[in-house]
Order: sequence, then structure tokens, then C-alpha cells
Amino acid sequence: MEQTLKYALVTGASRGIGRAVAVKLAEAGYRILINYASNSAAAEETLRLVREAGSEGELMPFDVADAVAVNEALAAWQETHAGEVISVVVNNAGIRKDNLMMWMPAEDWHRVLSVSLDGFYNVTQPLLKGMLLAKWGRIVNVVSLSGIKGLPGQTNYSAAKGGLIAATKALAQEVAKKRVTVNAVAPGFIQSDMTADLDEATLKKQIPAGRFGKAEEVADLVAFLCSDAAAYITGEVISINGGLYT
Ligand code: NAP
Repeated sequence: MEQTLKYALVTGASRGIGRAVAVKLAEAGYRILINYASNSAAAEETLRLVREAGSEGELMPFDVADAVAVNEALAAWQETHAGEVISVVVNNAGIRKDNLMMWMPAEDWHRVLSVSLDGFYNVTQPLLKGMLLAKWGRIVNVVSLSGIKGLPGQTNYSAAKGGLIAATKALAQEVAKKRVTVNAVAPGFIQSDMTADLDEATLKKQIPAGRFGKAEEVADLVAFLCSDAAAYITGEVISINGGLYT
């Protein structure tokens, strides 16, 4: 890449996996655009950790499902960074609203799909042109084991992540010639606020590795996929689940 400063946008970077990814990419020399929905205090802490890792960052709050808000934030950034390219996007923002399909309200169906799928489109589409023109880019989508095998009680979440897996494979083929890779990482159970309500002591007995994963372990995988070393990996879904598969 010719540009001197490298920028990475991480959605849902205020907490959990997104925060760990932000810190890892900061260690790799990226300036981090820290997206989040509403938790400014947590996002400020991510920014502090990014600086502690030796890089710089800025907060970029928006709801990934809100196309107008995303476009406004990205356009405002580009205005103050003429000629600069956001060359790495990690679509990590995601939510769970679990329920048996029988009891699932339409709003929970739509919201989970929208954050995952519309979020992917809203954030990735405007940034793609810059990557294609620069002839270098990395797009990593954080999906889930649920999107591969489907989990009962998560029909909405499984559909959202499964859709994102298909989008990953399709887009990868569109942009590979321009040295833009598109991959997905599929975590199993990872310790974070999202899994804080789960019974870890019982669930970990089903996991061959005998424990929940750490956000930092997912972040290491994402950072590898964003590196030059991963240039020939694209359209892949890489599981990170301690052996929990079927
Ligand atoms: P988490 O701890 O609940 O954090 C969620 C992050 O997403 C927060 O930064 C939150 O921002 C942000 N966010 C939520 N809705 C958003 C929206 N509409 N727009 C922008 N940001 C939004 O979650 P996590 O466990 O780190 O999960 C991160 C990703 O990994 C998700 O896509 C999840 O589905 C996936 N995943 C997690 C696990 C797991 O076991 N933890 C397993 C498989 C896949 P605020 O702080 O402002 O709320």
C-alpha cells in the first residue's frame, strides 16, 4: 500500500470481541475507527487501549443497521481525511434476541437480521470502492457456529449469520482480482457480555477444549486474516470454537 497511514474500521468495538480486534489491529499499526451503538464509556476505554498499544484511534458511533447514519459518519470521516482509505473493515457488530420461533416477535426477527446483514451492506458497500482503487483491502465478517449448523432458539441469529456467510463467499469472488480478501470467522462460545447470561459451567462440558474461548483468541485470527500473510485466503469461513462442531 502506498498510503502512509493505515486505517481499520471495527464495528461493535466498544466491548468484547470487537474491542480485542481493535487492540490487535492497533498493535499491527492500524489507526482504528472504533464503532459502537451507544456505550461511549466502553468505547473510550477501547480508545485508551488502542493508544496503549502504540497507535491512534477515534470514536465513530452509529447504528450499523441505519444506512443514513452510517453514510453520514463515513462521509464526515472522508471529508477530514481526503485521499485516505479505510483498507480494513471488521464487521463485528451483532446482537442476539433468542427465542423459539413459536414465540419470536417479528421485531426480534427483523432486528437481528438487520444488524447483521444490513449492517454488513451499509458499512462495507461505501468502503469497497476505496479498497478496489487502492488494490488492497481486507474484509472480515464475524459470524457464528449458529450460522453454520443452526441452533435451536436462534432461528433469527442463525439466519443472520448464515446469510452473512453466503455474502462473504459471493463478495470474495467479486473482488479477489483487486487484492481485496473477504473472509468470515465463526466463533463458538466466547467469554463476553453476549454470553454472560449463559451457564458456562454446564456448557463447557460440551466443548472438547473444556472452556469458553477468549475474545483475544478470536482477535488473533482476525488480525492474521487482515495481514499480508493471508493474501491467498479468501471466501473462507474459519471456525474458532475449541472443537465444538456438531
Ligand atoms: P458484545 O460483548 O455483546 O458486544 C457487542 C458490540 O456490538 C458492542 O460493541 C455493541 O456496542 C456493538 N453493537 C451492538 N449493536 C450494534 C449496532 N446496531 N450498531 C453498532 N454497534 C452495535 O458481543 P461479542 O460477544 O463481543 O460479539 C461480537 C460479535 O461476535 C457479534 O457479531 C456476535 O454475534 C459474534 N459472536 C459472538 C460469540 C460469543 O460467544 N461471544 C460467538 C459467536 C459469534 P455498544 O457497546 O454501544 O452496545
